[in-house]
Amino acid sequence: MIQLYIPLNFLGVIYREIKQALIDMGNMFGILSKNKEVEDIQDAKALQLHNPALGPNVVFNDVYFSYESNRAILKGVSFEIKAGTTTAVVGHSGSGKSTLSRLLFRFYDIQSGKITIDGQDISQYQQSSLRKLIGIVPQDTVLFNDTIGYNITYGKPGASQEEVEMAARTAHIHDFIISLPDGYKTAVGERGLKLSGGEKQRVAIARTLLKNPALVIFDEATSALDSKTENAIQSEIDKLTVNRTSLVIAHRLSTVIHAEQILVMDDGKIVERGTHEELIQLQGKYAEIWHLQQKEAKDEEVN
Ligand code: ATP
Repeated sequence: MIQLYIPLNFLGVIYREIKQALIDMGNMFGILSKNKEVEDIQDAKALQLHNPALGPNVVFNDVYFSYESNRAILKGVSFEIKAGTTTAVVGHSGSGKSTLSRLLFRFYDIQSGKITIDGQDISQYQQSSLRKLIGIVPQDTVLFNDTIGYNITYGKPGASQEEVEMAARTAHIHDFIISLPDGYKTAVGERGLKLSGGEKQRVAIARTLLKNPALVIFDEATSALDSKTENAIQSEIDKLTVNRTSLVIAHRLSTVIHAEQILVMDDGKIVERGTHEELIQLQGKYAEIWHLQQKEAKDEEVN
């Protein structure tokens, strides 16, 4: 009886861990449980990149999308991210920015239009090959209930401790980790040490640096940061996106100044596009938000 009990109990633990990991993955990308699985077409092939070291060329071509049939979220969105460059997306809350990243990761299929990577329609290729290419730093990182080391290594299973520490150093989280009583073996997540939003995001950055993906999606946290933390996060974003195809969903415009292209979204459409200088000259929506945020930053300095 005892012999039978132990393996069953063990299986129960494994089952719970797997279930928890799936929940964590779902949470990681802000996906609700009612999300319908997308499926590979029959005989789907793996996506191939023209130049993996530079990253792929990404195109959204007249994309329409809604989560629920009666409410359109993206209404004819078209843009191109040239290989190895950064495109930033800004706009009011709810305008559809994070939806772009979920669609690029193919968590949902679009209603019409096309999303291509190096000319290959992502709906026609293996999801696994698509997701292998992409590293995503989500807005609210949910950590696995495991050690902080595991949470970073997850980006590259089998990575050496040196590689993990190098990524953690670049993400400015190594010193914090070694100050913890159990260092890299410290348990985190719901059942362990609770980390701040900024610390969790740095773990996600370290994980992504370790994965070294061809395409990076960075969904900046909405939470207010002091200007010191903001500058630190900025330098981490720069390290993550340099010479790589990147999509940065930004809430603070200071994050996007150096992006090769900035898209301004409003109500599911791109209403302005260009570089920071071009958009300031345009004196439209972007310039309005920029001046507002500059004023807020000055007020913060005074107080
Ligand atoms: P924020 O700046 O607040 O992160 P956002 O511009 O990234 O906002 P999205 O997350 O893309 O906005 O959401 C766009 C719209 O889609 C919102 O109105 C949101 O309520 C809706 N939405 C997002 N996820 C779902 C979902 N899983 N099911 C139904 N509606 C959703």
